[in-house]
Amino acid sequence: MRDPRHDVLFEPVQIGPVTARNRFFQVPHCSGMGYRDPSAEAAMRRVKAEGGWAVVCTEQVEIHPTSDITPFIELRIWDDQDLPALERIAAAIHDGGALAGIELAHNGMNSPNLTTREPPLGPVALPVATWSHDPVQARAMTKSDIARLRRWHRDAVRRSLAVGYDLVYVYAGHALSGIQYFLSPRYNTRTDEYGGSVRNRARLLRELLTDAREEAAGKAAVACRITVDELIGTAGITRAAIEEIIGDLAELPDLWDFVLGSWEEDSVTSRFGPEAGQEPYVRGLKKLTTKPVVGVGRFTSPDTMARQVRDGVLDLIGAARPSIADPFLPRKIEQGQVQDIRECIGCNICVSGDFTMSPIRCTQNPAMGEEFRRGWHPERIRPSQSQARILIVGAGPAGLETARALGQRGYEVVLTEASRELGGRVAAESRLPGLHAWERVVEYREQQLRRLPNVEIYLQSQLSAGDILEYGFDHVAVATGASWRRDGVGRWHTHPMPMAGPPQVLTPDDLMAGQRPTGSRVLVFDDDHYYLGGVLAELLAGEGYQVRLVTPAASVSDWTANTLELVKVRQRLIRAGVTVQPNTTILRLENSGAVTGCVFTGEETPTETDAVVLVTARLPEDGLYTELQARQPDWAQGGISSVYAIGDAWAPATIAAAVWAGRRYAEELDAPARGEPVPFRRELTALAISDPG
Ligand code: ADP
Ligand code: SF4
Repeated sequence: MRDPRHDVLFEPVQIGPVTARNRFFQVPHCSGMGYRDPSAEAAMRRVKAEGGWAVVCTEQVEIHPTSDITPFIELRIWDDQDLPALERIAAAIHDGGALAGIELAHNGMNSPNLTTREPPLGPVALPVATWSHDPVQARAMTKSDIARLRRWHRDAVRRSLAVGYDLVYVYAGHALSGIQYFLSPRYNTRTDEYGGSVRNRARLLRELLTDAREEAAGKAAVACRITVDELIGTAGITRAAIEEIIGDLAELPDLWDFVLGSWEEDSVTSRFGPEAGQEPYVRGLKKLTTKPVVGVGRFTSPDTMARQVRDGVLDLIGAARPSIADPFLPRKIEQGQVQDIRECIGCNICVSGDFTMSPIRCTQNPAMGEEFRRGWHPERIRPSQSQARILIVGAGPAGLETARALGQRGYEVVLTEASRELGGRVAAESRLPGLHAWERVVEYREQQLRRLPNVEIYLQSQLSAGDILEYGFDHVAVATGASWRRDGVGRWHTHPMPMAGPPQVLTPDDLMAGQRPTGSRVLVFDDDHYYLGGVLAELLAGEGYQVRLVTPAASVSDWTANTLELVKVRQRLIRAGVTVQPNTTILRLENSGAVTGCVFTGEETPTETDAVVLVTARLPEDGLYTELQARQPDWAQGGISSVYAIGDAWAPATIAAAVWAGRRYAEELDAPARGEPVPFRRELTALAISDPG
């Protein structure tokens, strides 16, 4: 039974000519699939619709070859050739029971046009504003460029309607859309009627909205997605300016979609921002229009959602990440199964798909991005095919997901864990500064396992190969994880780092187990480049140590550029008083401390320190697996037919990869993957009809 306090979330909402069946709105979000994997994208969006979202949108869809954000893989609506893919996505969304939204985008001076080689277009002549600092400049748009842009946008609206979209976006947000560069005084210094006053800067937006409305002709809704504060003070779009713009254009779109700042500010990770973090920026804007408004905030709590609606902050609950982690979030709230929500942990691994041009994946939802390729579903899985009993050793993310998925399939499962708690590395890491929400990886699975009578869990049960051979299970999955290396081996040192005498050497595992440096000066050597080196530096600085972080990379926590955290990591370390030395490695340890070296010249610098924390690489804890393999002749006697190592015990990687490995094991236990050597379905580009040349 649904909690009556959540009833308000299931009221229908009129959006211009269309009606959303409830208040759950999957706002446009990138998928790393786009024009390369349109059927995979269609299948992914269908699952969201099936999960109860009233509106499901595409990612940004580039409307013209002058809007080409290569290398990112989004969708395109350059001409009719792009329509079959877009039609397939809209049809899939309808099939799942939702309205289909399309986010039309002209990226303006955010698009370097590397594929099309078209000169980029901006309000003024400035270098393109891209993450990769492409050596390309935008040309200041002339009046005829603006007229052409209006025609391209109209054409895109017409094409969108032709292939079935119910809601078309005019996109002016995230510092990704060209329109935002017109709105922002930081960029728009034009002296004609498109620059100067707020009204003039919003002229292009007004024109595009008017055109879109005319073209939609009451058959589809028109949404405006806009940045409500650029977060750079009076140099950019301010609260006052946005109030003027929304007040002025209030009734022109059928829906307002509010975003905050650039994408980094809007999709902030849980390490750097709370749920509903946008509320102070969005509150009060709804009063400026009679049209419904949607906003985001990594919403996973239905109480927060209902409160925002009741308080008049939002009409529609927007979500990208919560809908990725749990495509069935609306259904679960509707059916009173709030405890079954697979809550987003706010890690932005999903975002990394876009930055690495790979299909979207999610730490919490291993089926994300596998709906089409492997036929995985976030809620359903094939029932068991036999009476086989499975032993899983190790209850980290890999072991927990294996047990959950096999348990859901109906197999008899025993999960054993050496320590006193479930969670493995996640249990330990979620106690570090800023990573508390990661606990949800364990909590969700623990909650599900509790309701599966066919899964038994034994804590404080360290198993040996001998134990396992005696028990008589049909299959054994070894998910014993990995440990951080103590010898400095990693990317820089592929052989052990020379170490003579003090300083004290600590690993991340030591620190997570509560051990601390003996002196006050600590050198953190980050050759891992994801979050942990930065987090441990923050931990130690917070405890009063004098911390210096040394990394061979150009930036601290270099890979977090892919999770939109790079700048925030650095800000936090500066504020915590951590000294940072990028482009530097530790060459060796000797009596006086560490000898660091410039990665370019090799120039050596002695650095006094009491302790060194080595964040370099991990070694699989695969002793048990290796021993079981060595004793294969004894398997038959114990009734064992297979032994596999999964997750970090097989090859250390992200938490997302461990969860995925658990799901894969459960999926493939009794059914081989689709085929070898490619175990998933692919969609290949068709060749042009005529020969090249
Ligand atoms: P993964 O990310 O692959 O799931 P983790 O390192 O997070 O790996 O988790 C591995 C878990 O396995 C840890 O909780 C650890 O205590 C447990 N473990 C390791 N060896 C054994 C063993 N021999 N018997 C039972 N549990 C084990
Ligand atoms: Fe949330 Fe992380 Fe999944 Fe993204 S990858 S939806 S941030 S849990």
